[in-house]
Amino acid sequence: MSITPLMPVYPRCGVRPVRGEHCHLIDEDGTRYLDFASGIAVNLLGHSHEGLIKAIQQQAETLMHVSNLYGSPQGERLAQTLVDNTFADTVFFTNSGAEAVECAIKTARAYHQHQGDATRFELITFGNAFHGRTMATISASNQEKMHHGFSPLLAGFKYAEFDNLESAKALMGPHTAGFLVEPIQGEGGIRPASQEFMQGLRDLADEHDLMLVLDEVQCGMARTGKLYAYEHYGIEPDILATAKGIGGGFPLGACLATEKAARGMVVGTHGSTYGGNPLAMAAGSAVMDAVANEEFLSHVRETGARLRSRLEQFIGNYPDLFELVRGEGLMLGIKMKAESRPFYVHLRDNHQLLTVAAGDNTLRVLPPLVIGDAEIDEFFEKLSAGAASYTVPDAT
Ligand SMILES: *Cc1c(COP(=O)(O)O)cnc(C)c1O
Repeated sequence: MSITPLMPVYPRCGVRPVRGEHCHLIDEDGTRYLDFASGIAVNLLGHSHEGLIKAIQQQAETLMHVSNLYGSPQGERLAQTLVDNTFADTVFFTNSGAEAVECAIKTARAYHQHQGDATRFELITFGNAFHGRTMATISASNQEKMHHGFSPLLAGFKYAEFDNLESAKALMGPHTAGFLVEPIQGEGGIRPASQEFMQGLRDLADEHDLMLVLDEVQCGMARTGKLYAYEHYGIEPDILATAKGIGGGFPLGACLATEKAARGMVVGTHGSTYGGNPLAMAAGSAVMDAVANEEFLSHVRETGARLRSRLEQFIGNYPDLFELVRGEGLMLGIKMKAESRPFYVHLRDNHQLLTVAAGDNTLRVLPPLVIGDAEIDEFFEKLSAGAASYTVPDAT
């Protein structure tokens, strides 16, 4: 047999972490890495946050799982906190980002179909989006590399150009149910949508009674210095998918909706065995307690601004390597002149600095939100050494 026990769907590298200490990962052979990837925007409190660990330990000792057939004081508490801090009136808890987007898609369809309008089932989505790896969420993305081998796709998605309002408008028709968009594309290369685009989608949704569905799985949960990225645009969605950071490392996601948008999600329409279990709720509540306050959010904004201005200065030293810095808060991307992946590998293997490669030649810088000047200094030591010792591989 040559297949590995772990299904070989990931190009796993030689780093094999066994322990986390604040903003560092330590691997099997004791090597220490500075973690500016955070499990891809997940570990927003770092790796050994006392409050999060305690909350999970205590809840594990008390009650780990019960069915959603019972009342949930733990779920009510976290849902209320999310409702108090966002546009939403109601919350469905999931175990992952893709499930949160899946619920968001179902909620948008049900909004129309619950009232007997079965013709409105189509969501307009956007080029180079990433919404997850289930059949519905790969169908929602135009990225063919994710479709290959899995046809037929789920019907009901049309792909417009990202950040191009006219392109979205051109796809609207009698079947349109709404728009599904990442306000800041993550996998696509840390590409923030413009103010006009987001406001334009909101206006179109209002004019035509459509659902504006935001995928904030990566850009949400304080990553950009606001609890959710939509706040930067001065608009509110009808439905929003959140995950990644919300559990601080514990698997948790949620679909948030207004009362109006959730009108189709009545008893029996949706469910999840694990979704909203007490252990996940304890983790989510500990994370929300830590991040959903002005002190924490302004720390993210100020730290993000310092990191960004130093990055902008830094890339000026290597005009042949780097093009620009973009993003918001501590969701930053360095757009490179060529593919970012070889540079990401070089930083990882030769300088023990973890970042993440993304589309559009972009290197993602996604540190834990609790970094301070010590971690920023260490980051620039490693990045400078990495850039100085880097040779761009020959294009093949
Ligand atoms: C990661 C991600 C998802 C999928 O989340 P999973 O937890 O991997 O299912 C969906 N949308 C966006 C924007 C993401 O970054």
